Amino acid sequence: MTTIPQPAETPRRPRIGLHAPIAGGLQNALLKAHALRCDAVQIFSRNPRGWSARPLAGDEIENFKRVRAETRIDPVVVHANYLINLAAADATIRQKSVASFREEIERGVRLGADYLVVHPGSAKGACEADGIRTCAESLREACAGIDLGGFRVLLENTAGQGACIGHRFEHLRDIIGACPALHLGVCLDTAHAFTAGYDLRDEDGFAATIEAVERNVGAANVRAVHFNDSKADYNSRVDRHWHIGQGHIGAQALRRVARAPELREAAFLLETPLDVQGDDERNLATLRSFVEGNGDEQP
Ligand SMILES: [Zn+2]
Ligand SMILES: [Zn+2]
Repeated sequence: MTTIPQPAETPRRPRIGLHAPIAGGLQNALLKAHALRCDAVQIFSRNPRGWSARPLAGDEIENFKRVRAETRIDPVVVHANYLINLAAADATIRQKSVASFREEIERGVRLGADYLVVHPGSAKGACEADGIRTCAESLREACAGIDLGGFRVLLENTAGQGACIGHRFEHLRDIIGACPALHLGVCLDTAHAFTAGYDLRDEDGFAATIEAVERNVGAANVRAVHFNDSKADYNSRVDRHWHIGQGHIGAQALRRVARAPELREAAFLLETPLDVQGDDERNLATLRSFVEGNGDEQP
């Protein structure tokens, strides 16, 4: 077995990482994250744009777990596939979504992952309140009878495109409240929050956002932060991730998010574009400089 250098003791800063591809094997995401000196990683456990997925083979799981132990990547976050719509008003789509989400949970548990991130879904054809109720019902149905152990489902806040619910922390609060046995957590996407109308750009806007998070879902339940700048403008309800410091949120504001004491226990994960060679390295270097600071500011 090759010896991979181990990271130092758990630092007093949030864990950082990125969404990494699984082409050639799930363990390749861990190896990429490790090569980039990440603590954490996010993956899809399957093709994110198809309903059907080949079941995971025993040796794939063993391989993943072995490489994870070697690289000590922690946490491992799985992002659910994009076809799932737990809030669907259409009964057929909802049933397919519940079945697919249940599969995502089972895959995540078998892989020994820590979290499964899912968007609450689109209430198209129904009102927002119905969408929220449907989403909660779907989550309870999908998880029924599964021993989740330490595995936790995280609801991601959305940009509020179209009829998507989850663009207000109140929506997440209501879904979480309707599923008390599931201990749902939250994944906070900075680009989604910003284009949904939470103005992260100045200190007051960020304080108000953190306050809304704390009041509705509890900052301690934010287990992951999708750390993205936004190519779309404030309050546009459009979902376009962009390179850190080059979008409408900007470096100064994102630095404030990365250094927020309320979010220190969350894993910060980039979902920024990889357009040219070196983009991941550059965005990670920026995130790293934010969380590590230069001693010029009290945390
Ligand atoms: Zn997402
Ligand atoms: Zn996201």
